[in-house]
Amino acid sequence: MVIHGNNNVMIAMNDNNWQKARLVKSKMIATDVKSLTFQVDEWIKHKAGQHYDIRLTAENGYQAQRSYSIASAPEDFGIVEFGIQLLSEGEVSPYLFTLQEDDEIEIRGPLGQHFVWETSLSGPLILIGGGSGVVPLVSMLRHRYMAGDTRKTIFLISAQSLDHVLYRDELEAYMQNDPNVEIPITLTQQKPMGWLGYERRVDKEMLQETMGDVLSQKPSIYICGPTPFVEACASGLIDLAVDPSLIKTERFGG
Ligand SMILES: Cc1cc2nc3c(=O)[nH]c(=O)nc-3n(C[C@H](O)[C@H](O)[C@H](O)COP(=O)(O)OP(=O)(O)OC[C@H]3O[C@@H](n4cnc5c(N)ncnc54)[C@H](O)[C@@H]3O)c2cc1C
Repeated sequence: MVIHGNNNVMIAMNDNNWQKARLVKSKMIATDVKSLTFQVDEWIKHKAGQHYDIRLTAENGYQAQRSYSIASAPEDFGIVEFGIQLLSEGEVSPYLFTLQEDDEIEIRGPLGQHFVWETSLSGPLILIGGGSGVVPLVSMLRHRYMAGDTRKTIFLISAQSLDHVLYRDELEAYMQNDPNVEIPITLTQQKPMGWLGYERRVDKEMLQETMGDVLSQKPSIYICGPTPFVEACASGLIDLAVDPSLIKTERFGG
């Protein structure tokens, strides 16, 4: 079966677990980042941290496929939300930015079993996200909230500027309403007047200052973002004598 979508992209369906997904909501959530929420008929409950593959097929049959983390919580029945960063010279993300309500794409998932967090896991939760790497971590935070879990959670975010922090309003609300949630932010390029937070790349000292004792309480640690960011954060934690088996990483490339 073949369906024609907008922008001369056509969608071939029903092979290898691909299914169509219909855009029901689209919203800018940071500079150059859009939240896209799709309705899927054959919805499968995901684990927070998992991703989907998105596939586009051009009229001449050329296909492009990329992975995108799930931002929605496992509790968000029937929908899947992604947070897509626009790479203007890229192949897939600029097209996803042009999608309009009711447009359809193909998706396959949920995928990935390693970078997942569930409330059944013990210990505090540490999340470290760079740029759009916060997307799967937001799913974890939403899952924690919707499941009524109140464990100590520290979510360290690195962004170019405050306007580059994805889901900023929602994250501020979590922090204000839950004394067990801390969300320190470091701004690597531009800071607003009077900024009191960090203003450098994540390093060992920042990890120690923001996480302190929690690092010795057998936390579950999730790091996501561009490869150099993930490697710097993971080696900083290992320098602080954190057991590597507690650290899970997801690299978005770059
Ligand atoms: C598990 C996983 C989860 C992910 N989750 C997310 C997510 O939640 N959100 C998100 O935004 N991304 C996510 N990504 C990244 C995503 O899969 C894509 O890599 C990203 O969107 C870029 O795809 P693109 O087709 O737009 O760019 P691409 O076409 O893949 O290009 C990538 C970069 O290379 C440059 N480039 C392309 N062609 C050339 C060339 N010929 N010469 C020089 N430079 C070139 C482009 O300018 C661009 O900056 C995830 C990746 C993985 C592996």
